[in-house]
Formats: sequence, C-alpha cells, structure tokens
Amino acid sequence: MTAIKFRGKMKPYTRKAIREISERHGFRRADSLGQNFLIDRNIIEKIIDAAELTKETLVIEIGPGMGALTQIAAETAGKVIAVEIDRHLIPVLDEVVGHLDNVEIINEDILKTDINELIELEKKNFADSGRNIEKVVILGNLPYYITTPIIMGILEREIKMDTMVIMMQKEVAERIVATPGGKTYGALSIACQFFCETDYVTTVPRTVFQPQPKVDSAVLKLNRRERLPWEIGAGGRELFFDVVRAGFNRRRKTLLNALTALNIDKAELKRILESVGVEPSRRAETLSIQEFANIANAIGRQREL
Ligand code: SAM
Repeated sequence: MTAIKFRGKMKPYTRKAIREISERHGFRRADSLGQNFLIDRNIIEKIIDAAELTKETLVIEIGPGMGALTQIAAETAGKVIAVEIDRHLIPVLDEVVGHLDNVEIINEDILKTDINELIELEKKNFADSGRNIEKVVILGNLPYYITTPIIMGILEREIKMDTMVIMMQKEVAERIVATPGGKTYGALSIACQFFCETDYVTTVPRTVFQPQPKVDSAVLKLNRRERLPWEIGAGGRELFFDVVRAGFNRRRKTLLNALTALNIDKAELKRILESVGVEPSRRAETLSIQEFANIANAIGRQREL
C-alpha cells in the first residue's frame, strides 16, 4: 500500500533514497548478485547520453536494480525492457518505474533470457502501433560476477543489438579495448573487437556506488559492426576462435609452441605461419585480428587438402 504513495516520486540514486526504499520494502541486498547501486546522477546521465536514445530506440537493460538507469532511460527511449534476477527488487522497481507505460520489467536471469525473442516481439508491437524501432541498445551497470559471460553470450548468440553501453570493472573494460602489444590484450579484446567497434566512454570511481566496491569501474560503448571487416575462410569463426584461444592459453610461449595445442605438426605449423608472414617466434599478444584470421584461414585451407 505504502508504495502507491511514493509511486514515481522516488529518485533512487542517492544514499538516502536507497536506504528509505530498502526499509519501506524490507529489501536486503544480496551480495552474491553484485548489487552495487549507482548514487550519482551525473554518471547516470553520462551513460544515458552515450546511448544516444530516441523514441525509436528499444533499450534492453541488464540488472535494473532499483531503477536508477531505467527511470532516466525511459525519459528518452521508445521502450525500456529491464531484466532483473532478484525478485525482491520487483516491488521496488514497481514503485520507481511502474507508472511509466514505456517500461517493462522481466524477473529473470539475463543469462537464460532469449533477448532476440524479446527484440522480435517488441518490433512487432511497435509495428502494430504504426511505429518503428530504429535502434536496439543494450544498457547496464553489469553485475560484476558475470560481466564476461553476459558480454560473450550477447556476441556469440549474435543478439540483434546495434549498441551496448555497459559499465563494468575498469580492469575488464581495459582488456576489452586493448590493442596488440600490451599485457591486457587477449582473447576477450579480440572477441569484442571482432564483432564491435569499442569505445572507452569514461572511468567511474568506486565512490559513486552504494555499497562501495573494491575497484573502480568504466563505461564502454560497443557498436556492432554492420559488416565484419575480416575475411574468415574455410574453417569459419570456430577455427578462428580456436586459434585465438590456443594462442592466448599459453600467451608466454611463442606462437609456434602455443598453437601446437591445435594438433598440428610443428614443422607444418611453422610453414603455415611463414606462409602468412607471421614470424613463428612471435607471441599471441602481438597479433592483430587480421593476422589471427590469416593464420586460421591457412590452417583451414591445409585441413581441406
Ligand atoms: N542498474 C542498477 C544501478 O546501476 O544502480 C543496479 C546495478 S547492480 C551493479 C547489478 C544488478 O544486476 C543488480 O540489481 C542485480 O540484482 C542484477 N543481477 C545480478 N545477476 C543478474 C542476472 N543473472 N540477471 C539479471 N540481473 C542480474
């Protein structure tokens, strides 16, 4: 009953508001769910600005928590579908965004949600009311314990999104945008950059969360490439990612040694690497995506013989 009195009035991004809402709903934070709520309106606006929302944008939000991003995204987006795993947050979200008719809350695990189905359904709903969805944005202050599975799931399942604006631990963000040559460059950088153009939006200090996490965060913007610029040949993406994984699984070794995990004779491997102009003594962390693709393509051609 009390929620009706406050419905829509609550701005859930101050320490005081979080305390009040929690008390009113008897909400207790679940540490295991990575619940660090944003308490800084400026940061929230930076995230929303980066998403460049319009009334023709469908937002899929991951982990709305108490609705801090949801409420502000709904002001400019056509529709926000927010997927929250914690059922104890559903009455809170009802109080904060339940009055907004362009917000839908789904109480589910994002890792088990069929996001493409949600998008298709919403496109149909828009079309039925004579409107169009021109852009799909995945938005979220991600629960840190599953940041990588969420991102990889979206990329590997080829979710039909155009842009992701997501916050994560700074260290993970740095790995995603890393370029060849450094220690942070690895399989995650390649997986993200293979499918998306990546942009580091801003660093977010740990002080703007309640409770305060142990590390700083960062916001990234990942724009899905309309056309993949890499030429992937016979072995396809599977072989490409096998080569990337094999290279980085033993990243201190030379490529010649690391790639023997692919069950290729060493002399043959040496010949393959040289045939695509890659010095066998190089390490995986020095290779560009195109160079990995060239190696995978040469292995694929060899396997076809
Ligand atoms: N968006 C809110 C904010 O910025 O204040 C909350 C962000 S908090 C870092 C992460 C949120 O993700 C929490 O609300 C948590 O309950 C939710 N969450 C955790 N695991 C999830 C999962 N597997 N599926 C959906 N939501 C999840």
